[in-house]
Amino acid sequence: MDLRVTVVGAGIGGMATSLLLARAGASVVLLERVGEVAAVGAGLLLQANGLAVLSGLGLDEELRAGGFLSAGVPVRAADGTVISSLPVPDFGEGLDRVLAVRRSAVHEALLAAVQASPGVELRLGVEVGGRESFDTDVVVGADGVASAVRSGGDFGARVRPTGAVYLRGLVPLAGDGFAGEYWTPSGLFGGAPVDATTQYFYASATAPAVRAAVTARDLSALGRAWAAALPAAATAFDAVGSFDDLLVNEVVRVDCARWADGRRVLLGDAAHAMAPNAGQGANSALVDAAVLAYVLERAATVEAALAAYTARRRPRVRRVQDAADRLAQLAHWHGRTTTRVRDGLLRFVDRRAGLADRLVRSTLQEDPAALRGLVRGLDLRSA
Ligand SMILES: Cc1cc2nc3c(=O)[nH]c(=O)nc-3n(C[C@H](O)[C@H](O)[C@H](O)COP(=O)(O)OP(=O)(O)OC[C@H]3O[C@@H](n4cnc5c(N)ncnc54)[C@H](O)[C@@H]3O)c2cc1C
Repeated sequence: MDLRVTVVGAGIGGMATSLLLARAGASVVLLERVGEVAAVGAGLLLQANGLAVLSGLGLDEELRAGGFLSAGVPVRAADGTVISSLPVPDFGEGLDRVLAVRRSAVHEALLAAVQASPGVELRLGVEVGGRESFDTDVVVGADGVASAVRSGGDFGARVRPTGAVYLRGLVPLAGDGFAGEYWTPSGLFGGAPVDATTQYFYASATAPAVRAAVTARDLSALGRAWAAALPAAATAFDAVGSFDDLLVNEVVRVDCARWADGRRVLLGDAAHAMAPNAGQGANSALVDAAVLAYVLERAATVEAALAAYTARRRPRVRRVQDAADRLAQLAHWHGRTTTRVRDGLLRFVDRRAGLADRLVRSTLQEDPAALRGLVRGLDLRSA
């Protein structure tokens, strides 16, 4: 591939795209507005699709060495009973688990690979404007939920704040810590250890007492709001040093009628920001990166490649965005009867191995083993 490509945004999606395109022979300029690439976000759950891409890049081993592996992300009621487990099917070596890691570990691994790649020129401290034009063959907008590349093109974008707010944090690991998610009357709470000494946690701020504590930026009120529903959550909040150590995010959903406009193409949150409930935002960005590099390497023209990328990615991601929205709603149902019906339904799905398997595969969007093969098969001319 002899293309010249500008990638805007050095997040997980932009760095993976740059690496994969460079592997396939492209000359990549990667533009990032901040002066130093740093992870925003505490932890990350890497699923088999994202892991397949990182594995194809040769970056999974070092992440696995520091992170925490589990068979899936079990969902429990506040009393600890498992409502849903949806284990990961075995897609082959290293692709049969969920890996919880510090987000900074993923950024550091990708950044080191970018800096070592002769095909990628990283320019930090460059903020791209929406109307800016580039003389490269392709411009990839990997610049996140408020994408400037998206605003400068005709993508038929719809950007909707969902009203949901999530909190994330890292605290010292207490004992073995906890892994999985709890659906409680105070909202959703979950997490996993991310290294030998650190626990990652996330929580919704939907219940009135939790939301009021967040508005008041009152850490003790936050702990109190969770104490009755889930003591483990209160313990986690109590271990946070100050409210400023928490990340507070409003969830925005982005839908684009088109992912490409001429030679501009969108990827990751810029194309499809979604609710965090399927744990697929960053994982999907990694899959986008692999598929984009693959089609650009093979198609006869850039236009044909971008059309193929959109046709393959958009419907699959749309299904995951919808599933994440449904999970967000289900997690916040109240009332004894309603939650009993919900829990019964989820347990039913869990017991039907075929159904559970189909759900997991649909969430992963691509067969992880095939995805890893696709990444490994990219032309290694400039690696
Ligand atoms: C509570 C919560 C939990 C989550 N948990 C998970 C999880 O477990 N698993 C998962 O897969 N996903 C998860 N996500 C989603 C995930 O964080 C995002 O989907 C992912 O980070 C998107 O990556 P990206 O590379 O597309 O965008 P970003 O990470 O937003 O990166 C965009 C980059 O572009 C740069 N940039 C922006 N504008 C410009 C500009 N104009 N010029 C130059 N550079 C620019 C930014 O500085 C940034 O570096 C979670 C999200 C939330 C809110």
